[in-house]
Amino acid sequence: MTSDSSEKLPEFKFSLTDQKARELPLGWAKQATVQDFPVSKNIAGVLMKLEPLGLRELHWHANAAEWGFVISGNVRTTIINPEGQYETNDFKEGDVWYFPRGHGHSIEGLGPDGTTFMLVFDNGSFSEFATFSITDWLSQTPPEIVAKNLFVDLSELKDLPSKEVYITGIKEKLINKKLNSSPLTHKYSLLSQNPLRDCDGGKLWLVSSLEFPISTTMCGGTLTLKPEALRELHWHPNADEWLYVISGKIRLTVFASSGLSSVLELSEGEIGYTPAGYGHSIENTGEIDCRLLIVFNSGVYEEISLTSWLSSNPDELVAANLNLSGDIVRKFPDKEEFIISQKKK
Ligand code: MN
Ligand code: MN
Repeated sequence: MTSDSSEKLPEFKFSLTDQKARELPLGWAKQATVQDFPVSKNIAGVLMKLEPLGLRELHWHANAAEWGFVISGNVRTTIINPEGQYETNDFKEGDVWYFPRGHGHSIEGLGPDGTTFMLVFDNGSFSEFATFSITDWLSQTPPEIVAKNLFVDLSELKDLPSKEVYITGIKEKLINKKLNSSPLTHKYSLLSQNPLRDCDGGKLWLVSSLEFPISTTMCGGTLTLKPEALRELHWHPNADEWLYVISGKIRLTVFASSGLSSVLELSEGEIGYTPAGYGHSIENTGEIDCRLLIVFNSGVYEEISLTSWLSSNPDELVAANLNLSGDIVRKFPDKEEFIISQKKK
């Protein structure tokens, strides 16, 4: 990395740990939007904790779909689509949800310990003026209209909140009114499946619209790497990559073309962002296995790895291009490695 890089390149790293939380009695949220993290134009994230009976109230997002990953605990969601079809689901650690843009939903923390989850949105500006909460809406509407709409007297609405509550509490255990009717499920139990890639140095669990058809605009999952393991140099032709370190330490390299690049050290609670098409690699630099959440703003997962690309070209071409002898080029891997467990001699 040259000194020019830092002048011409945006910052590809952001610490969620350092963000101030929006705190309420039954939960909190920390967000990384494009306002906080300028490179993240196409993907934003919210880390949320809900205590048991804590409710992230009924709301929708006007400009983004929501992809959720349960980091710990148990959680329940409700959702409705424009056809009037609804679904209620319970989620545990390692489960994923996907809510299409604009569809109304709620999220409830369940016992015994509540839940911590990451929400990822396919728009860096999902938050500002684009999240529509039911209490905000009803408090902004003339009470006569609300009363008429809901078949009640004005006096019966005196306890309606006067502004957005965001996270509120449920007073008693919920009884679901309706059975599920949505033809496509919003839930996918990712960590109950076999990993998509299972290498000596680590594993990738990934869910895309292939296995989870409702998830048309996003895909993602979990990457684990053993100490020293390297997710090799690669790029994604079709999507930005949003990465969150759940545990461990990594080195992320980002190549931006035109002689510009960035090498970033990330640890727990930090986000890395690689724009579509940028070359990158991820190495575990810690003493323990690292666990990463990685999310893309496309329902289709696409990648091209360095070893796959080079091994598919004639050795003579690669040798001439890299100014190396054919003997050296023939030592390169003869197929895609994906994750390299340690430095080969
Ligand atoms: Mn939401
Ligand atoms: Mn990648």
